[in-house]
Amino acid sequence: MTSPAVNAEITPLQERLIDLIKTNGPISIADYMTDALGHPHEGYYMSSSPVGAEGDFITAPEISQIFGELIGLWLVQSWTDMGSPPAFNLVEIGPGRGALMADILRAARLRPEFVNAATIWLVETSGRLRHEQQRRLRTESAAIQWADAFSDVAPGPTLLVANELFDCLPIRQFIRTKTSWRERLVGLADDDQALAFTIDKTPAHPSLILPSVEETTAGDIFEICEGGQALTTEIAQYLIENSGRALIIDYGHLASGFGDTLQAVRDHAYWPPLSSPGRADITAHIDFEALGRAAFEAGAAVYGPITQGAFLERLGLSLRVERLCKTISPAEAHEIKQSAHRISAPSQMGEIFKAFCLSSPDLPAPAGFEGE
Ligand code: SAH
Repeated sequence: MTSPAVNAEITPLQERLIDLIKTNGPISIADYMTDALGHPHEGYYMSSSPVGAEGDFITAPEISQIFGELIGLWLVQSWTDMGSPPAFNLVEIGPGRGALMADILRAARLRPEFVNAATIWLVETSGRLRHEQQRRLRTESAAIQWADAFSDVAPGPTLLVANELFDCLPIRQFIRTKTSWRERLVGLADDDQALAFTIDKTPAHPSLILPSVEETTAGDIFEICEGGQALTTEIAQYLIENSGRALIIDYGHLASGFGDTLQAVRDHAYWPPLSSPGRADITAHIDFEALGRAAFEAGAAVYGPITQGAFLERLGLSLRVERLCKTISPAEAHEIKQSAHRISAPSQMGEIFKAFCLSSPDLPAPAGFEGE
């Protein structure tokens, strides 16, 4: 990804945030992300077409159909591991343009009983993207429902997937000053015309779980994704009550660490996160250790994270590429090989992206995670 020639415009959301901060003082980065991404009218996901070659960023299911097909087979195997329940929920949170679900269902048709047993729930906050999902999936025979939140999904045995969802859940940042941890906030630049980072005047509340001051140095930045941890706990509790598995794929680090991972992307290039809110995607890396802890404390079985490259390979990526390439032209085969390389090579998406599975404790280790 390149750095952009920044041509930031003042957005209506930015004007509103400036007024709000002038009156009430700086806001948390989490509140900023919530508005910039999810404001009902001007939020990025509500008002843009984020994903795909014509959007601002591209995701694995948009790069290669094999990604979703392998996950489809993983889901069929998981359903078998659950004793092939005659009715179950197949949930996707944050389905984007519906590509992953379309590929999952195509691969899963190998077992029509799976598709017939599934009630599909697409949990999506953006009306615009729901519309794209409806268009993409309208020819599917399976029953599809949309929900605003995971809590709306009916009880029952469940298989859940979420690709590149957790990275857009709001984070808070804390910075180690000389003597204490303080929250990094969004305030105003000197001329009051632009947004700028600032630091809270008072130390972080003692109830927050932050690394100790003694073991850190001034300037360290620590991130907390409260929404991601709460959603993980909610999914874990739900799976324990209802039986099932959740497969979460996203980019991030295995162990909690220090550093500023807040980033924005616009038109396939990095963008300053506080410029033109509502017009750029804003994300942060996932702290898988924190999510794993949340799931474990709720009582779920936790598998991984393992790298996306290793996960896809264990599910048969190379074999699938080889088989597909036998029946098509050399040019098409080249394209398939290249897209498979993009989603699995360590230098591309294979290493930074991780697969992570939560499961009700009654089930065996899921395919791809044996021995993890
Ligand atoms: N999974 C897709 C899209 C990733 S983009 C893919 O891999 O291509 C993030 C998606 O999550 C978008 O569909 C966005 O509208 C949705 N989203 C963002 N916040 C959400 C939330 N809190 N609940 C449900 N969906 C959300």
